[in-house]
Amino acid sequence: MQHLTTFKERRAAIKALLSELVTLESFTRDKARVDALIDTLESTIAAGGGALIERFPQAAVGDFLLAKWNADMPGKPYLFLAHCDTVHPAGSLERMPMRIEDERFYGPGALDMKAGIVIALEAIWALQRGDALPPRPVHLLLTTDEEIGSPYSEALIKELAADCELVLVMEPATPEGTLKTWRKGGAKYALTVEGRAAHAGIAPQEGINAIIEFARQALDIQQLNDLKHGTSVSITRVEGGSAGNVIPALVRAHIDTRALTVAAAESLHCALTSLQPKMPGARVSCRRLAQRPPMERRPELFARAAAIAESNGITVYEGGTGGGSDGNFTAAMGIPTLDGLGAHGDGAHATHEHVILSSLPRQAAFIAALLQEWDCAN
Ligand SMILES: [Zn+2]
Repeated sequence: MQHLTTFKERRAAIKALLSELVTLESFTRDKARVDALIDTLESTIAAGGGALIERFPQAAVGDFLLAKWNADMPGKPYLFLAHCDTVHPAGSLERMPMRIEDERFYGPGALDMKAGIVIALEAIWALQRGDALPPRPVHLLLTTDEEIGSPYSEALIKELAADCELVLVMEPATPEGTLKTWRKGGAKYALTVEGRAAHAGIAPQEGINAIIEFARQALDIQQLNDLKHGTSVSITRVEGGSAGNVIPALVRAHIDTRALTVAAAESLHCALTSLQPKMPGARVSCRRLAQRPPMERRPELFARAAAIAESNGITVYEGGTGGGSDGNFTAAMGIPTLDGLGAHGDGAHATHEHVILSSLPRQAAFIAALLQEWDCAN
């Protein structure tokens, strides 16, 4: 409880830092603005003291930042993962102005996940001030491409996570205020169906209609859905045909898949990559474009975190989501991963995005306790 009081006294400072971060808009594709936010975070972390800071310059997205406390200590680090980019293009602040109503803090990216960055920093700083950081390195990685699937940071995330004791993902809690102990994995596929073009009037019999072949495949693909067990397969885009009087020779489609377990994701992958043509002479191929593996539920991790919270007067609950995060990568590597440690609130990616202000000191207290007691609770 001592922790919670400490953080409640920091409310003004917490609000001020959150306002500063939200004011700096940081749409993923807007490198200049994201870099400006990274500059601010770099100097803020430096001013907090005690951290070694490394900057990883990026060409296509904002630079990444890695801050290390207790850098010279032996032992496996605790690794915080947080992303600075948002889904809100520059100018969103005008449409959805930053404001506080009923103790809720509104603003683009406030919940997902600038408040999460503030919470992690507050927890680390408080322990540092009390000379109570755990006797091992504490790393905070700030990335800038999470909202587009982390194509540039995935390798670095995996490299840093590989020899970590615990990964703490600062994504927001579920709208119900729970930790995210499972996340579905997702993969995107490109489906190509090739037939043969022919004049629809003069020689239709010489054509192989790629749209008909696609339609038959689509009905089979639809059958792969198993919503009861969390598996979904959705054909999300399709284009095909060339002219009104030509038997279509080509169809391209996009498929979005989600699964709860690695086994389910793999069996989907198998089914999609071994589709066989139905019509003589047609060709069908399906290729995976990108994927995040599922984060499978590990009850022992939640139990340990919940026990630490409880002994500090905080009750936490668990839940899950169909959306992915960088935690999917580290969990799939077998590294203990706690996700959804960020702010409580609602409306991530939407215009009513907001943070419940009282959750910030609470989560900071929870995280400070996790850092201090995770080893002892083993
Ligand atoms: Zn996020």
